[in-house]
Amino acid sequence: MTRETYAPIRVGRYEIGGTDFVVMAGPCAVETERQVMRTAAAVARAGANILRGGAFKPRTSPYAFQGLGLDGLKLLARAGSEFGLPVITEVMSDAQVDVVAEYADILQIGSRSMENFALLYAVARSNRPILLKRGMTATVEEMAASARFVIENGNPNVILCERGIRTFGTATRNTCDIVAIPLLQKMTGLPVILDPSHATGVRDLITPLARAGVAIGADGLIVEVHPDPQAAWSDGEQSLSFTDFEEFMREIEPIREIWRDQRVGAMAACAS
Ligand code: PEP
Ligand code: MN
Repeated sequence: MTRETYAPIRVGRYEIGGTDFVVMAGPCAVETERQVMRTAAAVARAGANILRGGAFKPRTSPYAFQGLGLDGLKLLARAGSEFGLPVITEVMSDAQVDVVAEYADILQIGSRSMENFALLYAVARSNRPILLKRGMTATVEEMAASARFVIENGNPNVILCERGIRTFGTATRNTCDIVAIPLLQKMTGLPVILDPSHATGVRDLITPLARAGVAIGADGLIVEVHPDPQAAWSDGEQSLSFTDFEEFMREIEPIREIWRDQRVGAMAACAS
């Protein structure tokens, strides 16, 4: 399989895997109407393309905040439409696919669900693009196989996401397997984005890793942003404040420019 196997994936006015480098940004979880509205306004103003936000949250502890569920989904959709941003949110079970697909533009399969085959079959039957995150102990081959389940069962619109894997290192939440990005692009022909928030778990490392992600040729980034990271109900330590996010966008821009030139050139070479 080569990079040219699949057409770019259209989301709103963007072509993911084509010549649009997409930045998906927003809170780990939708907490309140004010929180999601303020975040959508801030990320839209700073130049994000897509709004992220969890409503059904897979949490390691049963005592942690599990998300607002359907109410969160509705708030996210409202915030997206208010600020002209398509929205992405996680779907945790096959039973939730229809309702999440009603409100979300992209369905996120979380790291913990990469091999939930009932869920993969269910999203394969939906007409929404899928963001498939790498299982935290999954090889690239296993990830490509999960993507295949979705594609073979009817949905070719799969975007992959490197979000770090478990290693012996403990200084960061996960270890970013950055070379998996071009590797998976080549192996699968699918767009691959990077999540520098979950890959590091450390706010100050998000922007440096994001820059590397753009430089290595990722098709986009997904990053956590919160109005008051210290007070976030989940993943505050790896969330950017609004001013951090503006700085993040400024810092990736020069590399994004080079990315655009190279991608336009590569697509033109393929077409000729
Ligand atoms: C998330 O995006 O908030 C999330 C839970 O990510 P992951 O599935 O990569 O842990
Ligand atoms: Mn999170």
